[in-house]
Amino acid sequence: MKYRTILLLGAPGAGKGTQGKILGTIPNFFHCACGDVFRSLKHDSDVGQVFLEYSSRGQLVPDEPTIQLWRSFIETSTKTGRFHPEQDTLVLDGIPRNVPQAEMLKDTLNVVSIFYLRCTKIDQLVERLQRRALKENRLDDANMDVIRKRLKIYEKETKPLLEFYGKKLVRRINADQTPAEVLFDILKCLRKL
Ligand code: ADP
Repeated sequence: MKYRTILLLGAPGAGKGTQGKILGTIPNFFHCACGDVFRSLKHDSDVGQVFLEYSSRGQLVPDEPTIQLWRSFIETSTKTGRFHPEQDTLVLDGIPRNVPQAEMLKDTLNVVSIFYLRCTKIDQLVERLQRRALKENRLDDANMDVIRKRLKIYEKETKPLLEFYGKKLVRRINADQTPAEVLFDILKCLRKL
């Protein structure tokens, strides 16, 4: 069975997590942020070590362990009754993060829409990331070199997903707006799905 899925796509700091968390509170939507799944791992576990090694440098974790971890998270969420694949729409944030991951998930996801959170103000993105680094103690946003690297990888590896899934599925959302305005625009699109 393929999961009915909405993807949240956008640069680090564009607000995917903020919107995803809100959408996840609506009945029949299940929010899954891949970064949160990684951060919930024990630091001394094998995958936890791999995550720290890559994320502290601003790099993506290799595809195989990422997809494996994600699959087991979804399985556990289903078994524990938090995710109901038959009736829920999956709101994915941070996965797939590149074309190879999208290929690997082709048989698993039925992507019905992509909300592309477009942020034109790079300074605003960087400022949000730096604020979050302090608040959430995140190594990946702690220094400017790592932030720059993350933004570069987003442009090179994640943005091509828009082409991969095709224009018909993509809804462009102006992420320069306030969180409430962004949410309003997302909900307007959701209504039409
Ligand atoms: P942001 O939303 O700020 O980009 P995330 O919380 O989604 O950050 O991810 C934090 C880090 O976790 C990433 O920089 C990366 O190292 C790792 N990560 C998260 N999702 C993936 C993924 N799908 N593939 C590879 N690495 C990932």
